[in-house]
Amino acid sequence: MTDKYTGSSSIPLYQSSTFSQANIEESYDHIYSRFSNPTRDALSEAICAIENAKFAEIFSSGMAAISAVLLNFSQGDHIVACKNIYGGSFQLMTEFLPRYGISVTFVDATNPMNYQQAIMENTKAFYIETPSNPTLQVTDLKSVIGIAQQHNIITICDNTFMTPLLSDVISLGIDFSINSATKFINGHSDVILGTVATNNPEYARWLHKSAVAIGSIAAPFDSWLTMRGLKSMAMRVERASENAQKLAEYLNEHPKVQHVFYPGLASHPNHIIHMQQSKNGGMVVSFDLGSYENVKRFLDAVRIPLVAVSLGGIESIISYPKMMSHACIPEEGRLLQGVTDGLLRFSLGCEDIDDLLADVGSALSQIQ
Ligand SMILES: *Cc1c(COP(=O)(O)O)cnc(C)c1O
Repeated sequence: MTDKYTGSSSIPLYQSSTFSQANIEESYDHIYSRFSNPTRDALSEAICAIENAKFAEIFSSGMAAISAVLLNFSQGDHIVACKNIYGGSFQLMTEFLPRYGISVTFVDATNPMNYQQAIMENTKAFYIETPSNPTLQVTDLKSVIGIAQQHNIITICDNTFMTPLLSDVISLGIDFSINSATKFINGHSDVILGTVATNNPEYARWLHKSAVAIGSIAAPFDSWLTMRGLKSMAMRVERASENAQKLAEYLNEHPKVQHVFYPGLASHPNHIIHMQQSKNGGMVVSFDLGSYENVKRFLDAVRIPLVAVSLGGIESIISYPKMMSHACIPEEGRLLQGVTDGLLRFSLGCEDIDDLLADVGSALSQIQ
């Protein structure tokens, strides 16, 4: 993709809030950067290309993208969502949506029939995350989309973990594909940004309207950086998912590891369904070390990965969901989601896998 005005190999950064008009009656292509900005529009075009979608809206964060989709429902509407869900989305659905009269039922999404059974007269949407964060439970997309279509229900999928490159959810029939581009799409841990793609022109119109009205649009510079990250995305995703498969196999054999969660392992309960809807097991592996003490020893000893919140960087990132991504969920709800005291989430980067395995092996040897 090149700049249509100058031919520049890198789309220029149009760091401008407003655009002069040709005359009082006519504007050029852009008027004001909350409505549209050429750098952000170029990213939108690139996201359409990787999503196989006709329309894409670019937001200031993944949560802004999720909020914009959910705030288009109305008082009295009902949403069915997976219970193993990103912490921020859970907070939005339990603490904010009810205040606007939008109710949410959480279901165990590993059985598609649970979506069917939760349908009420006013159910407007199914919200899906597969594989889920952080326990990597898999939802059977084809079955859930089929149930939704029978009942005229909108489907929303937070596809951050697989990315459109590994799981083409729009082609599978999802109405709204959401990505926190903060993660694998940008891939360099230097931007917060979110995207929503859809093939439905009516949905695209209300999505754009809400982006403009709420004002949660991405800045030109963040859009520019994300486009730069996107150029290497296919190579990063390929390398990181190969690394993840190898790490999962290694951990699965390791005596100090109680359980490994990774849909690329044949032992994963929904391995077959996952591989039907995705190219591979993805870039994220979770595993249980049994206790907080073991987690602490391991994290103090590990040297290569960053110990931090977030995922999807070119560097490996290990998070402790209990005290990081899921800290805002009360203990009871957290344990219900399988986020135990010993659970770690490992987002694979593009490092040499032998270096990573040696580092992880020596950190595990610190556990009694
Ligand atoms: C990080 C993340 C989000 C939120 O994205 P931000 O860009 O941090 O707002 C939403 N869903 C999933 C699955 C995530 O990993």
